[in-house]
Amino acid sequence: MSAPRVLVVGAGLAGSEAAWQLARAGIQVELVEMRPQKTTPAHTSGDFAELVCSNSLRGDAETNAVGLLKREMEALDSIILRAARAASVPAGGALAVDRQLFARSVTAELSSHPLIEVRRYEVTALPEGPAIVATGPLTSPALHAALETALGEGALAFYDAVAPIVAADSLDHERLFAGSRYAKGGGDDYLNAPMNRDEYDMFVTELLAAEKVPFRTFETGEIHYFEGCLPIEVMAERGRDTLRYGPMKPVGLTDPRTGACPWAVVQLRRDDLAAEQWNLVGFQTKLTRPEQRRVFRLIPGLANARFIRYGMIHRNTFVNAPAHLDALLRLRSRPDLRLAGQMTGVEGYVESAATGLLAGRMLAKELAGEPVEPPPAATAMGGLIRHLTARRPDRFEPANISWGLIRCPLELVTIRDKRERRHLQAAAALDLIRRWGATHSS
Ligand SMILES: Cc1cc2nc3c(=O)[nH]c(=O)nc-3n(C[C@H](O)[C@H](O)[C@H](O)COP(=O)(O)OP(=O)(O)OC[C@H]3O[C@@H](n4cnc5c(N)ncnc54)[C@H](O)[C@@H]3O)c2cc1C
Repeated sequence: MSAPRVLVVGAGLAGSEAAWQLARAGIQVELVEMRPQKTTPAHTSGDFAELVCSNSLRGDAETNAVGLLKREMEALDSIILRAARAASVPAGGALAVDRQLFARSVTAELSSHPLIEVRRYEVTALPEGPAIVATGPLTSPALHAALETALGEGALAFYDAVAPIVAADSLDHERLFAGSRYAKGGGDDYLNAPMNRDEYDMFVTELLAAEKVPFRTFETGEIHYFEGCLPIEVMAERGRDTLRYGPMKPVGLTDPRTGACPWAVVQLRRDDLAAEQWNLVGFQTKLTRPEQRRVFRLIPGLANARFIRYGMIHRNTFVNAPAHLDALLRLRSRPDLRLAGQMTGVEGYVESAATGLLAGRMLAKELAGEPVEPPPAATAMGGLIRHLTARRPDRFEPANISWGLIRCPLELVTIRDKRERRHLQAAAALDLIRRWGATHSS
């Protein structure tokens, strides 16, 4: 019996990659894209795989987590990476592309593939499977509503508020103390930056005066902040003490150097298994990046903080993946449907394309009636799946790939030299992904 035709909805980074992976496995694909008839607030063309903002696919060194992810994708014959290399422009250690050349070549290759039929219309209801839905952070409102109805209220985020993440090795640990509120949980899950009254007052004054990013036109008028994750500066506008009773509350925390409870505390929560990245708890913000650097470096211990991710708020449709997706990217309540791309809760062009690649490969294998497994946790691809499935649902937020998500093989844990360890980890990951690819291919 021949495999059924697969519907792929959305020809962005993820959908294009998924369609390619299915077609190269010999499966017929209907690839549906709503542009140019109906567009999103950020896209400007009818091309597939349009890069809506920066033209950079970020770092290219294999000791960089996103560099490793790229190499893994290339080992699995990624169309997105192949097109990106062919359209690359000089960008130092990063892979940047001529965006038109890039998008046009992906469009041309998929449109002329004998197994892919391209159709241009807006999908407004959840399709019957087998299908991959990859409609991205700007999923059209009708399909967003259909997904929300199917998964239940609160399953989808609409505005995405993320707090900054800073690098552990850029913090002044002399000025911080470890410990959870009321000494609950692991002793080193949080770092605390204590503030006295003057420090707090100065911080609030600078925060209120700081420059904010204006909303882009497509966001204007639609913004409804969730009370649970208001931008820090919006909270501060409600009263000088609001932060001291909110994200900067000091209760349950004793500074071991003074034996007293500070006036206010900024908590940093460990963001990765390796404790190399720390999230400023409750500090989602629309401050401009220079202002985040200026104002947040006023926090004791953060004077030289290096920002791995800046805080931001923008429109972003994504599911609460740990609650709704399995490790094979299928909706738990509709296993005939897979999600891929940014809407799964990964962040970034490369990560979005990577989940499209995985969804395509895993569906092809499933349609062949063979057992399917997610890639090993010691690969960057496996790290993305781990992020989507192993986080606590109430703490889930979109993430880029990082070393903190990639499991370090036991035999490499003891290597102290980080560069050497990363090289060995990358070699091991590439070996593992090639083997996974060999068992998950046409
Ligand atoms: C404003 C903005 C700026 C961003 N900037 C960056 C950046 O600089 N760097 C970075 O790494 N990441 C960035 N991202 C995040 C993200 O990586 C990209 O949005 C990326 O394109 C996501 O890939 P995707 O395949 O999931 O979605 P997309 O590439 O957006 O593809 C989804 C496709 O689905 C189509 N579609 C939507 N709804 C329907 C429907 N109902 N029926 C049919 N088709 C539909 C869309 O037209 C689109 O072509 C940005 C996101 C946004 C919103």
